[in-house]
Amino acid sequence: MSLVVQKFGGTSVGDAERIMRVAQRVVGTRERGNSVVVVVSAMGATTDDLIDLARKISRNPPGREMDMLLTAGERISMALLAMAIHALGHEAVSFTGSQAGIITSSEHGRAKIVDVRATRIREALDQDKVVIVAGFQGVSETADVTTLGRGGSDTTAVAIAAALKADACEIYTDVDGVYTADPRLVSNARLLHAVSYEEMLEMAATGARVLQLRSVEYARNHGVLLQVRSSFSDAPGTWIGEEDERMEKAIISGVTHDSTEAKITIQDVPDRPGIAAKVFETMASEGVNVDMIVQNVSSAGTTDISFTVPRDDGERARTAVDRLLAQVGAKGVNYDDGIGKVSLIGAGMKSHPGVAAEMFSALAEAGVNIEMISTSSIRVSCVVREADVERAVRAVHARFNLADEAIQRESHPR
Ligand code: ADP
Ligand code: ASP
Ligand code: MG
Repeated sequence: MSLVVQKFGGTSVGDAERIMRVAQRVVGTRERGNSVVVVVSAMGATTDDLIDLARKISRNPPGREMDMLLTAGERISMALLAMAIHALGHEAVSFTGSQAGIITSSEHGRAKIVDVRATRIREALDQDKVVIVAGFQGVSETADVTTLGRGGSDTTAVAIAAALKADACEIYTDVDGVYTADPRLVSNARLLHAVSYEEMLEMAATGARVLQLRSVEYARNHGVLLQVRSSFSDAPGTWIGEEDERMEKAIISGVTHDSTEAKITIQDVPDRPGIAAKVFETMASEGVNVDMIVQNVSSAGTTDISFTVPRDDGERARTAVDRLLAQVGAKGVNYDDGIGKVSLIGAGMKSHPGVAAEMFSALAEAGVNIEMISTSSIRVSCVVREADVERAVRAVHARFNLADEAIQRESHPR
């Protein structure tokens, strides 16, 4: 008998009818002789709605209470799915993250899973029950409820699959798998049959929302083979695992975009040792994750430092930089949240010079100005105006011939 972990995202459990459909899929898997653990996200836009609600009450709600609120979303879907499975004549039991033994660090809103104490899940499986676990949540060592960051249900599924040594970890979502670009933006994007952990990490880190970055890290660290597939069809989707000879030998695997960052520029900073250290130590102590950093060549002994941060942390980062200005002797600070980032990812870049130049030329031809550039051995990222992001993604996607001419998809459910 195999053990299968199946995770269903928000759209997949968006209404009662869809929950019934998920229940049928789960029961089908069960009736083929498998044990099943299901991880669910909150229904549809529930998490967004709860965040909006909290903002109406307070501009800066305590992290602990925010997590209390948001974890309610997944509680609703787990209970409804358990009822739906009962209605189909099978036994099911739902657990919150805490009941399921998902132990996390204590940073509210971005906790990390540190342990999975799956005793209760195992007992329920031994009693032949379908186990349903609320995604995106856990409990800290001090018994406070925590959440794992947006998209965190993916990580719950991977962590449970790793702890139970499951035979399969299936991530069901509202598209057919991982594409060469967001299929909502590029209508002829091509579905990828298999993607290496390394490439998927870069894709997730640069905005391909389809898997949370942390879930890919966790899968790679624990050797969990992932299958990303549609909850609306039986198509096999995309495999994510160690790079092997069966994977396509394409130079480029995809183009991603991200419009959730902001750019901070500190102007006229004295060009001497210790300034960058001071700025980024401050960001670190504020818990702000800095992404790209660019320092200009100095002229007349001063320089500009620009860096990008998540927009959600923008206010905090800006206040901290304002406090620093006098200390580091800078003239001013500029905050710009009208930026977007476009990235090109591909393991083949390592051995093919000229990929970056080709990308810049495609952007130039599309009339898109590049404001910042950063690279890794398998990625090139450019910061552009947010309004240019769609045009930039389409231009780069076309330049590298990533399109699937054969496929004209219908619009995806939402
Ligand atoms: P779920 O609720 O199932 O977790 P998400 O909204 O978190 O779903 O992730 C799926 C979405 O990711 C898709 O609807 C798609 O618009 C987006 N996406 C962005 N980039 C990609 C990509 N390269 N391949 C597939 N989907 C992508
Ligand atoms: N419901 C959470 C979110 O919207 C977690 C998830 O969907 O994975 O981010
Ligand atoms: Mg998601």
